[in-house]
Amino acid sequence: MIVVPAETHVMNRRNILRSLAAALAPASLRAQTTRQSATSNQPAAKASLPLTEFEPKSMLHVHETQVERAKFPVIDFHTHISWGDNMGGKQSVRFPAPVADLLAVMDRRNIRTLVDLTGGYGAGLQKSIATLHTPHPDRFIVFTEPWWSKAPEPGYPQFQADQIARAHEAGAKGIKVLKTLGLYLRENVRTGKLIKIDDPRFDPMWEAAAAYNMPVAIHTSDPEAFFLPIDRFNERYEELNAHPDWSFYGKDFPSNRELQEARRRVMQRHPKTQFCCLHVADSEDLAYTSELLDSLPNMTVEIAARIGELGRQPRTARKFFDRYQDRILFGTDAVPHGDEFPQQVFGDKLYQIYYRFLETEDEYFDYAPAKIPPQGRWRIYGLGLPDQILQKVYNQNASRLLGLS
Ligand SMILES: [Zn+2]
Repeated sequence: MIVVPAETHVMNRRNILRSLAAALAPASLRAQTTRQSATSNQPAAKASLPLTEFEPKSMLHVHETQVERAKFPVIDFHTHISWGDNMGGKQSVRFPAPVADLLAVMDRRNIRTLVDLTGGYGAGLQKSIATLHTPHPDRFIVFTEPWWSKAPEPGYPQFQADQIARAHEAGAKGIKVLKTLGLYLRENVRTGKLIKIDDPRFDPMWEAAAAYNMPVAIHTSDPEAFFLPIDRFNERYEELNAHPDWSFYGKDFPSNRELQEARRRVMQRHPKTQFCCLHVADSEDLAYTSELLDSLPNMTVEIAARIGELGRQPRTARKFFDRYQDRILFGTDAVPHGDEFPQQVFGDKLYQIYYRFLETEDEYFDYAPAKIPPQGRWRIYGLGLPDQILQKVYNQNASRLLGLS
């Protein structure tokens, strides 16, 4: 038996009565009735619209501030202006954009220095330093990365600590740990059990970082939605649907919190090592991040690719910036190519959005230069930070961490 919903039933009866009335009415009245039903029936309102085609324009009349240049010189602590082979063991790096193009954007937007986190290791690291830092020591700083492909080998703990010493000698200023650690690196590099973030084989590396005053920029876990099913309840459905390989739901992946807690244990165990937790450590749970910062004096955070999260909780975020103003660094996660990740494309537009978020009290604006907000369908609110905090976030906190004058 087919059950007709009450509304459909009523509509059908109404339509039948209307057509009967129209058939019995004179021609002039009939035309009028037909016109009326064309407007009152509105079948289009019932049609469905694919989410991918929905591009609503905000009808709010709100102030739009154009921030051409940052109010104070910027150190962008989180960029990827060189990129290598993180797990395969090849010591090569490539440069997605010519250095001159980078410098042009930097000069236009008041960026003093870019920190290239993915500088590589071995010969790749040397190439990164020779291309970026050596010719422009004030404008580019290069970090090294662990030699992950050797992690399963015996003797790795000392080998990796020695690599840090060599990288320091070559001119690297810090160490970058991608989310590779915790989510990709396995006992046979790509297969076998996942290697834990607090695995003791890395202890000599963390200690070497302290010995050479090299801060560790560590990315752990990912947005909470990446650990949930890709379904209609997932607030980042479109992003995950486009990149299903970004999902860590199921299989043998630890939970978001397990990963974060393993990182906490590393920071506790190495109190002399400076850890900068990238992406605000856990930008969706600022209470948790605050608790970490309160208990770990060797921890700082940076804001790259998370203004979408901070800007949708502007009152909590503003308090967070007040309270931890000495421990928050500016970063963007900028990559100078493509348009697949609009929230990360190195260029004028990206920096202007970050400046607008930090400096103004503008309301309800896009956190990325894209037609559809790429990390979730919401908009953000500016924090309007005072000069004293802006200076710290834009450059003073990074200068201190990097030992710059
Ligand atoms: Zn990054």
